[in-house]
Amino acid sequence: MERSIDSEQTDLPAEDPPQCTPRPAIWADVPDEKWNDWRWQLSHRLNTLEELQQVIHLTPEEEEGVKAQHRFRLDITPYFAGLIDPDDPTCPIRRQVIPTARELQGFEAAMVDPLGEEAHTPVPGLVHRYPDRVLMLVTTQCASYCRYCTRSRIVGDPKAQFSRADYDAQIDYIAHNPVVRDVLISGGDPLILPQHLLEDLLRRLRAIPHVEVLRIGTRVPVFLPQRVDENLVSMLRRYHPLWMNIHFNHAREITPEVRRACELLADAGIPLGCQSVLLAGINDCPNVMKELVHELVKIRVRPYYIYQCDLVPGAGHFRTPVSKGIEIIESLRGHTSGFAVPTYVVDAPGGGGKIPVMPQYVISQSDHRVVLRNFEGFITTYTEPTDYPGHDASRCPACQRRLAEGGQMGVAGLLAGQGMTIVPEGFEQAHQRLTRIRWNAIQLVPTGGEEA
Ligand SMILES: *Cc1c(COP(=O)(O)O)cnc(C)c1O
Repeated sequence: MERSIDSEQTDLPAEDPPQCTPRPAIWADVPDEKWNDWRWQLSHRLNTLEELQQVIHLTPEEEEGVKAQHRFRLDITPYFAGLIDPDDPTCPIRRQVIPTARELQGFEAAMVDPLGEEAHTPVPGLVHRYPDRVLMLVTTQCASYCRYCTRSRIVGDPKAQFSRADYDAQIDYIAHNPVVRDVLISGGDPLILPQHLLEDLLRRLRAIPHVEVLRIGTRVPVFLPQRVDENLVSMLRRYHPLWMNIHFNHAREITPEVRRACELLADAGIPLGCQSVLLAGINDCPNVMKELVHELVKIRVRPYYIYQCDLVPGAGHFRTPVSKGIEIIESLRGHTSGFAVPTYVVDAPGGGGKIPVMPQYVISQSDHRVVLRNFEGFITTYTEPTDYPGHDASRCPACQRRLAEGGQMGVAGLLAGQGMTIVPEGFEQAHQRLTRIRWNAIQLVPTGGEEA
């Protein structure tokens, strides 16, 4: 305790100059300028059996995975490969990027496009799933490739790239849809784009008056922290408000290099969030997740989402039951800082979007009491007000503005009195038919009425 206060309050450098992650022997002779150059890292990525064998003792299962035809792209930056424990096949860094034979096994629920993104794609690379925000895919390339990639249907193919015409169409769509106030730039990894291209996109998006917020989804700070340099950050900060979500899965990813990258980004005023994927054998443990979120908040990254692993081909062996996610949230909420607790979500197969899932805290309810439990199992009663006047939407400017906008209201719309039911597809037909059959049988009333 005292030691950490000392080191944080002194005016001397808070820590020793950032040490570098130790390098595997094969790169011992690479000069530091090269090793720390992101271009060198990208052009020396590992993707063959021979290269990997120089760094890691591969198991037969891994060898089979690496040799497999038609597997998802394999490419690992030397920096990230250097974080792998060469002798531990269960190493959580290793499991994320080294294929095994198990990824060749199909599973029953697998879907090529598990999030139904194609059905929500008005122009190539633009996914408009939610009312006020879009996902803009700007590249198919990443610094390294996660074995459980949810977008493996389009990611990794060096020949399938977005063109200038695709970007124009994406931006045109956004410019002509004033409902879009938030643009999430993803891919692939946007921070892999040539900087002038990324800047061009940011500039054009910023020029659209109704686009309030820009976001970048990236894993470059984890796979290639060298890429986050002064030059990149001073460009990014010109396009505020700009937010960034970074994909971390394990505390072992947080190295001195990553710490430096996040410090540059945070110092440029970019709010940083973390999106993790719940992965069997990697982070399916409340304590592993707790260590991760604690390390994240130390580098000013706020845990944002934990995703249930999507039903994507090749990822079957990474899946956990949904109960694992609930167990993790149970172990975090109340036990640690509120801002260190992410939202656990299932991204609904078939395109339903993200659905938050959490433990039950409301135990029971009557018209004047709510019975709640806390993280310790303490059960309490909150007495409801008897004189709550309610909210008068007719006199609330925000409600009136929302009403004027119209559009989709969902369950919130039911609460606001915008409708009485939300009816699944085919519901009317199915129920009219059943009703007719029953009434024919008992011959009470004539059939065929819509409202029967
Ligand atoms: C995840 C996602 C978003 C952003 O969702 P938030 O909950 O706002 O972070 C937007 N569009 C699509 C298609 C997404 O998958």
